[in-house]
Amino acid sequence: MSLIVQKYGGTSVADIDRIRNVAMRVSKTFDEGNKVVVVLSAMSGVTDALIKMANQVAYAPDKRELDVLLTTGEQTTVALLAMMLKGMNYSAISLLGYQAEILTDSDFGNARIAGIGARRIKELLDEKMIVIIPGFQGSDQNGNLTTLGRGGSDTSAVAIAAAIKADMCEIYTDVDGVFTADPNICKKARKLDRISYDEMLEMSSLGAKVLQIRSVEFAKKYDVPVHLRSSFSLEEGTMVVNENSDMERLVVSGVTHSKNEARITLKKVPDQPGIAAKIFTPVADAGILVDMIIQNTRAEGMTDLTFTVPKSDYKKALEIEKKVAGEIGAEAVIGDENVAKVSVTGVGMKNHSGVAARMFSALAKENINIMLISTSEIRISCVVEEKYAELAVRVLHTEFGLDKE
Ligand code: ADP
Ligand code: ASP
Ligand code: MG
Repeated sequence: MSLIVQKYGGTSVADIDRIRNVAMRVSKTFDEGNKVVVVLSAMSGVTDALIKMANQVAYAPDKRELDVLLTTGEQTTVALLAMMLKGMNYSAISLLGYQAEILTDSDFGNARIAGIGARRIKELLDEKMIVIIPGFQGSDQNGNLTTLGRGGSDTSAVAIAAAIKADMCEIYTDVDGVFTADPNICKKARKLDRISYDEMLEMSSLGAKVLQIRSVEFAKKYDVPVHLRSSFSLEEGTMVVNENSDMERLVVSGVTHSKNEARITLKKVPDQPGIAAKIFTPVADAGILVDMIIQNTRAEGMTDLTFTVPKSDYKKALEIEKKVAGEIGAEAVIGDENVAKVSVTGVGMKNHSGVAARMFSALAKENINIMLISTSEIRISCVVEEKYAELAVRVLHTEFGLDKE
């Protein structure tokens, strides 16, 4: 007998037939003698539709109320699955986030899980119940409903698995596993049987939305084995686990892209101590994450400074920098939303030189211009024009020998 958490994403619960498919899978796992906790997303498209509605009633919807609205997507699916399982004569119960004691901070829309009261869930499991919990939601100390950021159901599932010390956290989605690149844009991508937490962290942080980054952080911290697999097949997927010695050590093991990027340039900035702090402090104070930064030195003690921010924060960041430019005497601020970040990752890169040069040559051969570059021990990222992002992924995938036969 094992203790298993199964999370089903939006496409896996997109309509009644698919929820029935989930009910069949869950009941089968239960019948095999396991204790099962199910975590569900909202039906695909529902969270987007709710956000759209909120934007129709207010210019900048109140964040607390937006979370009250967004949690309804997941509330719908858990209730439907519980009803279905009960109709099939299983003892099932849905517990909303606060009922499952999923405690978060009060950062509405992007809350972090602070703790999970595993006692209630365990009691119900001991009573042979199938426990169904909505992903993406929790509540803060004052009982306000909160959400965990887009894709947050993955994090709910792994955090619950950690709290109840589950033997396995299965994440069911619409692809067969973690691939060397997004299989929906790179047909030659290969499914990985296993991937280390560190490589998965890197891929998630660079835009592979197949697992929300915080879920991987939880998995690594609490040693939760994660099995990412398809809800539409019985094939084994990808195990996300601790790195071990018999793992394949490719120099480059994955290619990722993110279109959630925008670029801002301050032209002719005085080249003096303290200027960079003046440019970046107000952006940080506004809670905006700056990713890449480059500075080009010009003649006459002037520099150009370029950086990237998430597309969703672009307008706010541009507004802030226009004000800053006036204060520090920069000549102009220009921005560009049509950019994307393409990255190659791999732990094998640590001991290899020449990866960057190969990446740049491969992009040059396709006439793809590189605007910004950043590197870490196990990653190289380039910002390119958005329209070339998918081509760049395919070109790099081939260049680094990742294409399947
Ligand atoms: P869910 O709704 O089940 O949470 P998501 O849409 O959030 O599913 O994540 C699954 C999607 O992630 C896939 O459909 C795929 O397009 C995308 N994806 C991006 N990069 C990868 C990758 N390297 N491997 C697998 N899927 C990826
Ligand atoms: N429904 C939420 C979203 O669309 C959470 C999730 O599906 O993981 O982002
Ligand atoms: Mg997801």
